[in-house]
Parts: sequence; structure tokens; C-alpha cells
Amino acid sequence: TLAGALDRALGLVREVIDFPEPGVLFRDLTPVLADRDAFRAVVDALAATVPPDVDAVVALEARGFLFGAALAAVHGYGVVPIRKPGKLPAVADRVTYDLEYGTATFELPADAVRPGQRVVVVDDVLATGGTLAAAAGLLTQAGAEVVGAAVVLEIAALGGRARAGLPVRALRVV
Ligand code: AMP
Repeated sequence: TLAGALDRALGLVREVIDFPEPGVLFRDLTPVLADRDAFRAVVDALAATVPPDVDAVVALEARGFLFGAALAAVHGYGVVPIRKPGKLPAVADRVTYDLEYGTATFELPADAVRPGQRVVVVDDVLATGGTLAAAAGLLTQAGAEVVGAAVVLEIAALGGRARAGLPVRALRVV
């Protein structure tokens, strides 16, 4: 069944203690990506959360690229990468935001999102929500309508859903 395939897929997630910093329980989705059936189950389940009439999937560097691009290719959306600084030759806008430790910057490519486009943001894990909030801010500033976000895992204890400030669909809440 679909639910069984998704359960099996999410059972492959590896939990790594104290990575990349002491005190963090890191959810490593690499084994999910490496398994044909698991990867397909997760991509299809993410796609099922995307509402109708979406124009593009926005994928967040780096692990969001893997799920977002696969979802977009299989299910027929364009894909817009939001990137870490210094990678894009033409930038529409950038935002710097707070992480659990330090800050990070995201850049939106020029000429990728048009005003009025309906987009969904895809990432692997929702933790504190700062990453999704930053991406949504860039997209809203560019005139896009951010319909929501889709993530594989949501770490509920960090309260990221509230900080993200947009409707989030998670395949599993841990
Ligand atoms: P946040 O902005 O705190 O929601 O962090 C989300 C970003 O950091 C996502 O792109 C995740 O890939 C990554 N991340 C944060 N915490 C974890 C974690 N415990 N396990 C895996 N990835 C994480």
C-alpha cells in the first residue's frame, strides 16, 4: 500500500546524535534517497500535498533540491532553486536569517518567479522554521503567492510551524 511504502521509507531515516553541533539530533535522509522504492514513495507523498493550480515548486539548497526537483519533474511543475550565496550569476533578491547557531543567507534567482505565480516550497526537514520563513519572504517580495510548504519531516518540539508562517504539510511529525 501507499501508506506502507511511506512507512518503510521513513523508517530508513538515520538519526545522528550531536551532528553537526553538540545537542542536535540530526535526521539524515540519505538512506531514503538511495533506495529506489523509498525515494519514489516520499516524492509521490510530497506531490500529493501540493494543491491544484501551482505553477512552480521552489526547492531549498541543498537537500530540498533533491526532493523538490524530483517532485517537479515527475508531477509536471517547474522548479526554482533558492540558493546559498555566491552561486547564482543573476540574483533577484537575498535575505539573511537566523539559524539555531549563527546566520545564513538565501538568494532568489533573477527571472525565475513571476508576480502572481502560485508556488510551493519544498525542503527535507522543518526544524525551527527560520529557513521556510526566509524562503517565503523572498518569494512574497518577488510577488509570488506562497501557497504552502511541503517537508518530509517536521521536528515538532522546535515550534517551526508557527515561525514558518505559512501552511506546512509534513509527511511525518517527530
Ligand atoms: P530550520 O530553519 O531550523 O527550520 O532548519 C531547517 C533547515 O536545516 C533544513 O534545511 C534542514 O535540512 C536543516 N536541519 C535543521 N535541523 C535539522 C535536523 N535536526 N536534522 C536534519 N536537518 C536539519
